[in-house]
Amino acid sequence: MLGLYIHIPFCRSKCGYCDFASEAGREAQIGPYLDALTAEAARYDGLAGSFSTLYVGGGTPSLLSPEQLGRLLGILESLTGPLAGLRESTFEANPESLDAEKASLLKKAGVSRVSLGLQAAQDRLLKRLGRPGLQKDFLRAYQALRAAGYGNISADLMCGLPGQSEADFSESLDWLLALAPEHVSLYALEVHEGTPFHAEGVAEAPDAAAAMYEAAATRLKAGGLERYEISNFSRPGRESLHNLNYWEQGEYLGLGPGAASYLDGERRANAPSLSGYLAAAAGGLPPPQEYREKLEGRAKRAELVMLGLRKTAGIELPEDIFIEFKPELDRLLEAGLIVAQGRQVRIREDRLYVANAVFREFV
Ligand code: SF4
Repeated sequence: MLGLYIHIPFCRSKCGYCDFASEAGREAQIGPYLDALTAEAARYDGLAGSFSTLYVGGGTPSLLSPEQLGRLLGILESLTGPLAGLRESTFEANPESLDAEKASLLKKAGVSRVSLGLQAAQDRLLKRLGRPGLQKDFLRAYQALRAAGYGNISADLMCGLPGQSEADFSESLDWLLALAPEHVSLYALEVHEGTPFHAEGVAEAPDAAAAMYEAAATRLKAGGLERYEISNFSRPGRESLHNLNYWEQGEYLGLGPGAASYLDGERRANAPSLSGYLAAAAGGLPPPQEYREKLEGRAKRAELVMLGLRKTAGIELPEDIFIEFKPELDRLLEAGLIVAQGRQVRIREDRLYVANAVFREFV
């Protein structure tokens, strides 16, 4: 299975915690960006027709106007063929920039799934995060998607936020569950260098976030959404196929600034600068690269184990890999962090929140 990821590096404003490759106030560059994306896509026309899944992320893909979305869809289809023929195609959207016209346009183009950022149901928390949309915007966008015929909507939630109590988080879960989304992604706040939150000295709250994760797993399960990966919950059959391919060490092509690819056993990523990406395209050059490395030997096998352990079902290890990592697996079993049935190993559900401690064994 081969995935295609397209990065749209534009946002209306920059959220306080965001360290993604996205820039605010550069909407005038969307046209030149689509030209640059066309040029990068053309470099991979040999892969045209071989993709199974598509994920358009960002940034804020829904910031594009209907005309710009039409152009973007044309670029995508030059690589994927008709979107309706893919196993899955996902568009990320932010509530304040997704209206009925765009929802209908995406649906008609064959986009099968939309991922909508909620983060929290309280306007005071959304303002604290610097989010451009409020609760009412999410509700309006969600209803527009349902009216357009979407039966596969994912929502993002965050926990461990500054000023977020357990009661706030619980209220967000209830509010979202009442809308019955098919999929929920849950992320704990991380404060990265270079972000406004880091400059302000906002602290991460790992203990509070861990308690909220546990509460969420129980509540979402009761609401019909099973946890299938550390941060992801879905109704049966609504798991993200594109992301499952990442966790199965499948190959994918990423286009746009900051986008990563895994092709022919090689991991590489474009540099995150939008200006650098545009300048290279204007000069007829490929995008500047951030890194490029061949993944092989023990490092490749260790990565397969770590990615597989992200899934709640875990991974059935091939015999040679099971033998190679037996000492690490034995230590994790003894520490009560994983369970094993033969060569099928998984992290204990009540230890998923400390998955990083498990992964450290394989680094
Ligand atoms: S909307 Fe998403 S990508 Fe854009 S600034 Fe906020 S967190 Fe970052």
